[in-house]
Amino acid sequence: MKKLPPVDVVLVGFGWTGAIMAQELTDAGLQVLAIERGAWRDTPTHFPPTTAPDELRWYWRKEMFQSNARDTLTFRNNRDQVARPMRRWGSFLPGEGVGGGGVHWNGQTWRFLPSDFAAQSHNTARYGALPEGMTVQDYGVTYDELEPHYDRFDKLCGIGGKAGNLRGEIVEGGNPFEGPRSAEYPNPPMHMTFSQNQFIHAARQLGLKPFPGPSANLTRPYVNPLGAQLAPCSYCGFCEKYGCGNYSKASAQTTILPVLMRKPNFTLKVQNEVLSITRDNTGRRATGVTHIDLDGNRYEQPAELVILCAYPLSNARLMMLSGIGEVYNPATGEGLVGKNYCYQVMAAAQVFYDDKFTNGFVGAGALGAAVDEYNGDNFDHTGLGFIGGGYIANWTTNARPIETHRTPEGTPTWGSQWKAAVADNFLTSTTVGAHGASMAYATNALDLDPTYKDAYGQPLLRMTYDFTPNDRAMARFLSARATDIARLMGGREVKVVLRDGPYDSMPYQTTHNTGGTIMGTTPANSVVNRYLQSWDVPNLFVMGAGVFPQNAGYNPTATVAALTFWAAAAIRSQYLRNPGPLVQA
Ligand SMILES: Cc1cc2nc3c(=O)[nH]c(=O)nc-3n(C[C@H](O)[C@H](O)[C@H](O)COP(=O)(O)OP(=O)(O)OC[C@H]3O[C@@H](n4cnc5c(N)ncnc54)[C@H](O)[C@@H]3O)c2cc1C
Ligand code: SF4
Repeated sequence: MKKLPPVDVVLVGFGWTGAIMAQELTDAGLQVLAIERGAWRDTPTHFPPTTAPDELRWYWRKEMFQSNARDTLTFRNNRDQVARPMRRWGSFLPGEGVGGGGVHWNGQTWRFLPSDFAAQSHNTARYGALPEGMTVQDYGVTYDELEPHYDRFDKLCGIGGKAGNLRGEIVEGGNPFEGPRSAEYPNPPMHMTFSQNQFIHAARQLGLKPFPGPSANLTRPYVNPLGAQLAPCSYCGFCEKYGCGNYSKASAQTTILPVLMRKPNFTLKVQNEVLSITRDNTGRRATGVTHIDLDGNRYEQPAELVILCAYPLSNARLMMLSGIGEVYNPATGEGLVGKNYCYQVMAAAQVFYDDKFTNGFVGAGALGAAVDEYNGDNFDHTGLGFIGGGYIANWTTNARPIETHRTPEGTPTWGSQWKAAVADNFLTSTTVGAHGASMAYATNALDLDPTYKDAYGQPLLRMTYDFTPNDRAMARFLSARATDIARLMGGREVKVVLRDGPYDSMPYQTTHNTGGTIMGTTPANSVVNRYLQSWDVPNLFVMGAGVFPQNAGYNPTATVAALTFWAAAAIRSQYLRNPGPLVQA
């Protein structure tokens, strides 16, 4: 194995978290190397307007996503089953290549509620003991501490929206339940279309307070604080699951790379996969990483600081492959790495019109209107049998012709009647969706598969996951609330779509995988401390939604980004002055 010259910082993975961390630490004067297993990608070369909306290529042939011929994960619903490899992505679509999943994300840019960060203490104080088997816990960081970092991400991306709580004052037209914001969104909300206007009208009839969805699809020309220029979104609809050819969706490419790539103290190495984190004889200090290139050459890359930015699934696996921390064992409750794997709970009601055109092809990844009355602890859960909740929204994210086929109740699932129903309803239907939280349970976890290996001979990650009693009760509740709104939207009929069976890894749900390297208040309950620093190896930090102890009822990336800015600030202001644990165990 070839030993390479040392660097100050090695970042593993180069999506949103890698790019933010690289920008922050190069600003502090450090020599930063990012190692990304996928290829270089950029707007003009990889998703120009001419080829960005190629549905067959990017979505159906999965060219935008992680190659699961080389590395995938195995899946089972519970420990009595044998996990089998996911040979084709379905339920979630991990990114690969420069920009990671942030290239093909939607851009729905939510902040978590203040109480989401204290799920254990807040819910226990209000409702008493939590259900048996539920393992939620507090983050160890508060909304107020993260607020300035949320604000930085809003400004980096040029998020469009309407504040509902400005410095503690509730503002008409925004989300009245959100935590206090220090500033209004940098840009105005997206233009609402027919479907959103129907949703807003229906929600108001129910006494709810609808507001425009926070969007990283730009609503006007914008220059971000780094000087990167973004263009207004054209509502092309090839956004969710696609790269933007229009410089209109915030991503690492559009917001950070134009500045970062020019810095002499930053190096990016692509098409190299990190295989392990190396440590010294004490086991308490990371010495760097090992990685392999496409020709099979292996390298040892020494570094003073190792920062995992490889998405929750890869971050947890790298910790396990490197023997850092004890892998969680659901049978005994021992170990922490892989614990509290969570996901997201979705429900929907589809609305069909006779003579009203919803024209869903005029869409964008984050074009929508939402209500937040049924999210988090915004309502009284007494007697409901679950904690947490979700937002209910009408998004017009796409009407991609191969993917979009809403059909009314009773339509056959194939054949000429199905085709006729798809054609009849293509331009005249819409969906009200619920996007719900996922509370941690002792049974859902990640570990290493005992049988299956990747292309380099290393064990695959194994996911054991099913919806929990809390998820099912929440899904039924949210589905009923979404249906209430859908029924008032003036359509001919409403079809309720409730995912009630076991979790199925094939239909797309969300790429909001969380947990596995959770944060917390002590080494006994978490893998990383409140600054995302490993308790076991203080010069190792872990970014991404893997640190969420449980998932909230929102999309994760703004919180992922805020936590990255927060951790970077702690490294710059505390760790570099006094390298060592930032929290005493
Ligand atoms: C279709 C879709 C829609 C989404 N929409 C939204 C949304 O609307 N709102 C929202 O908040 N979030 C959304 N997300 C989620 C969002 O994309 C992620 O939260 C975000 O990209 C996570 O950033 P990250 O840096 O943690 O990981 P990533 O962006 O996934 O980057 C990780 C990088 O690490 C690399 N890597 C992994 N393992 C290794 C290794 N061993 N060696 C080297 N490199 C490695 C990967 O190739 C990848 O490029 C969406 C995701 C998808 C797929
Ligand atoms: S909808 Fe807007 S932001 Fe999304 S890909 Fe199209 S132009 Fe870009």
